[in-house]
Amino acid sequence: MALSDFDRYPLTFGPSPVHPLERLTEHLRGAQIWAKREDVNSGLAFGGNKTRKMEYIVPDILASGADTLVSIGGYQSNHTRQVAAIAAKLGLKARLVQEKWVDWPDAVNDKVGNILLSRLMGAEVSLSPSGFDIGIRSSWQEAIAEVEEAGGVPYAIPAGASEHKFGGLGFANWAYEVEQQEKELGIFFDTIVVCTVTGSTHAGMIAGFAGQDRPRQVLGIDASATLEKTHDQVSRIARHTAELIGLDRELRDDEITVLAGWAGDLYGIPVESTVEAMRTSAQLEGMIIDPVYEGKSMAGLIDLVRSGQISSDSTVLYAHLGGQPALNAYSGIL
Ligand SMILES: *Cc1c(COP(=O)(O)O)cnc(C)c1O
Repeated sequence: MALSDFDRYPLTFGPSPVHPLERLTEHLRGAQIWAKREDVNSGLAFGGNKTRKMEYIVPDILASGADTLVSIGGYQSNHTRQVAAIAAKLGLKARLVQEKWVDWPDAVNDKVGNILLSRLMGAEVSLSPSGFDIGIRSSWQEAIAEVEEAGGVPYAIPAGASEHKFGGLGFANWAYEVEQQEKELGIFFDTIVVCTVTGSTHAGMIAGFAGQDRPRQVLGIDASATLEKTHDQVSRIARHTAELIGLDRELRDDEITVLAGWAGDLYGIPVESTVEAMRTSAQLEGMIIDPVYEGKSMAGLIDLVRSGQISSDSTVLYAHLGGQPALNAYSGIL
């Protein structure tokens, strides 16, 4: 098997844009920094990394005969917002379980941003008091059972679309897309920096890049604050995806790098370095990043470049995975 043997239902505009971050590069006085922009990858409700993952899951949904997509996330889940958009696009219903993954004091946390968009797109949204967990949840299984009892045909999409058999394929494809864009630009990104939480974005990249001739490092910056769980999930999904796309060797442990240090103590709670990274990105580049995910991975990139851990002769590709709608629920940080 190869990646091209899997059906892909296009939800993105095509290859996502790649461009240099010149003022950030100048500011950090180290490696050359570029971005690849999943935050503008689709016309479906602001897109993002889950939209790209779903391109390889939609054919399975359509083949299943389902009429309702069931999924789960925090109140400000970007993933469930993208599921709601895809349901609308496909003419299906969406049943979303939104859990209290983050104890954040903004009064409108369960009303604005992502959850507002999901409601606008007609999803049935239910709030649950359960806390953060990247694994399989009971509230989600209950929602699936409810759809069935009401005579519907559910299609279950786990948190972040990660624990799905095809969850890693979208970002394996991203790795192929990067290689193609590098040829066009006459450039080589020796280092990729990506935020990792439920794991299949990072895992898919690792699997996709592993089959390419020129080695590079794919640095996952943990934003889950449950490092070991995320590392295990990334390893498992990377190995599974590598097998699916026909990588003819085992992934080595040193190809799976999840770095701690920028998540703070809790998922979804920005720390000083997060807000600093958000301001830096916004004020030097007009590039908006969120306080849950990208602010943390950018904080990692900034420190790794400044400290020389990413060497000054490197060319770095920062994967911007989207997530800006959640900003509305975090007015308190500014
Ligand atoms: C979901 C998400 C991530 C993390 O991706 P995973 O595949 O869950 O590891 C990072 N950034 C944004 C904006 C996201 O929505």
